[in-house]
Amino acid sequence: MMKRYCFDEDHNMFRESFRAFLEQEVAPHRAEWREAGIVPREVYLKAGEMGFLIPQAPESLGGLGIDDFRFQQIISEEIGVSGETGFMPQLHSTIIAPYFLKYASEELKQKYIPKAITGEYILGVAMTEPDAGSDLAGMRATAVDQGDHYLLNGAKTYISNGICGDVFVVAARTNPNIPHAISLFAVESNFEGFKRGAHLKKMGMKSQDTAELFFDNVKVPKENLIGAEGQGFKYLMSGLAEERLICAIWNVGTAEYAFELTKEFVLDRKVFGKPLAAMQNTQFKMAELRARMDMAMAFTDTLVANINRGDHDSVAASSAKLLTSELLCDVADEGVQLHGGAGYMDEYPISQVYADARITRIFAGTSEIMKLIISRDIFSD
Ligand SMILES: Cc1cc2nc3c(=O)[nH]c(=O)nc-3n(C[C@H](O)[C@H](O)[C@H](O)COP(=O)(O)OP(=O)(O)OC[C@H]3O[C@@H](n4cnc5c(N)ncnc54)[C@H](O)[C@@H]3O)c2cc1C
Repeated sequence: MMKRYCFDEDHNMFRESFRAFLEQEVAPHRAEWREAGIVPREVYLKAGEMGFLIPQAPESLGGLGIDDFRFQQIISEEIGVSGETGFMPQLHSTIIAPYFLKYASEELKQKYIPKAITGEYILGVAMTEPDAGSDLAGMRATAVDQGDHYLLNGAKTYISNGICGDVFVVAARTNPNIPHAISLFAVESNFEGFKRGAHLKKMGMKSQDTAELFFDNVKVPKENLIGAEGQGFKYLMSGLAEERLICAIWNVGTAEYAFELTKEFVLDRKVFGKPLAAMQNTQFKMAELRARMDMAMAFTDTLVANINRGDHDSVAASSAKLLTSELLCDVADEGVQLHGGAGYMDEYPISQVYADARITRIFAGTSEIMKLIISRDIFSD
C-alpha cells in the first residue's frame, strides 16, 4: 500500500484506538451477530463511551467538537478494513446526525444528539418507499399540518437500523401539489402509530438490520420538523457529498480487507507444486487491484482534504462512490476466483465480502444514478 502523508499523530492514535475497539468489541462477535441478523445496542453504548459516535458534534451537545473530516474518514475506513458490515457508526454519525447538526433547531438537537452520542439513541434515515427509491420525487408519505402537530402517514422500506433504531429522520410530502415539497421529521420509534415491518432477509450484510417502517396517523410534534417545511429535498441533496464520500471510504477500506484475505490465501495455497502467489496470473491480478486501490485511496484522501477546506463537491463524491463501488466488487470477485472452490464456502470470509460488497453499487444512490449526476455536470453548460 502506498504511504499516506495526510494524517498526523492525533489521527494515527485515533485510528489505533478505534482499531483496538473493533478488535476487542466487534470482531469476536461477528458470527453471533450475523446469526442474529442484528448488532446489540451495547456496541453503540461502548462506542459512545469511547467517543467514537458523532465526534464532530459540538461540546455543548456532548460531542468532541472535532471539526476535521479525517476522523470520520478513519472510522469508516477502519470499519471496512476490519470487514465489519453490521455495526455502522458511519451511517449514524456521518450520514444521519448531520441532518440534526446542520438544520435542526437548538431544542431538537438537544433532544436527540446527546443521547445519539452516548449510543442510547440509534439513528436511522427513512427516505426510500416501495415505489420511490432512485426517484425520490415519487415519494408518497405525507405529513399534514394539524396546527400543533403533523399527522404522518406512509410506508418506507429497506431502512438500515430499521429494527434497532430509536430515532428516524423521515422524509414526507408536506404539499401534495409540489413534487419536491418534501420535509424532514425526527420520528421516535415509540411514537404512537409507528410500526416496524418485516426484518428483511438479505443476500449479505447479515448483521445489519434492514426493515420496513409504517406510519399510521403518527402525531409528530411541530418542533420535530427538521429545518424549514418544504426544504427536505434541498437538505437531502446538500448532504450527498459527505454521504457518498463516506460510502466511498468504506468501500476503499473493505477492498483492503478483501485484498488482504486473498493475499494471505494465495501465499498459503499450493497449486501444481508451488504457491498460488508464484503464478504470474495471480501476481498480475493482485498488481492491477493494488494499483486501482491506491488510486481510489488517493482520490478519497483528496476529497476529504477538500471537505476540510469547505469544498463539498457532490459530483466528485459521486465519482468516488461510483469508482470505489465497482472497485470493491472487482476485488471481492477476483478474491473469490483466486480462492477457487474455497471462495464459495461460507467458512472463508471472502465469500461473505463478495455478498456484502454487492450492495454498495445500489444503496446511497445506485451506480447508474452516480453516472446520471456526473453526466449532468459534464453537459450542464
Ligand atoms: C441493504 C440496504 C440498505 C438500505 N438502507 C436505506 C436506508 O437506511 N434508508 C433509505 O431511505 N433507503 C435505504 N436503502 C434504499 C436504497 O437507497 C435504494 O434501494 C436505492 O436508492 C435504489 O432504489 P430502488 O431500490 O427503488 O431501485 P430503483 O430506483 O427502482 O432502481 C432500479 C434500477 O433502475 C436504475 N435506475 C433508476 N433510475 C434510473 C435512471 N434515471 N437512469 C438509469 N437507471 C436508473 C437503478 O440504477 C437500478 O439499477 C437501502 C437499500 C438496501 C438494499
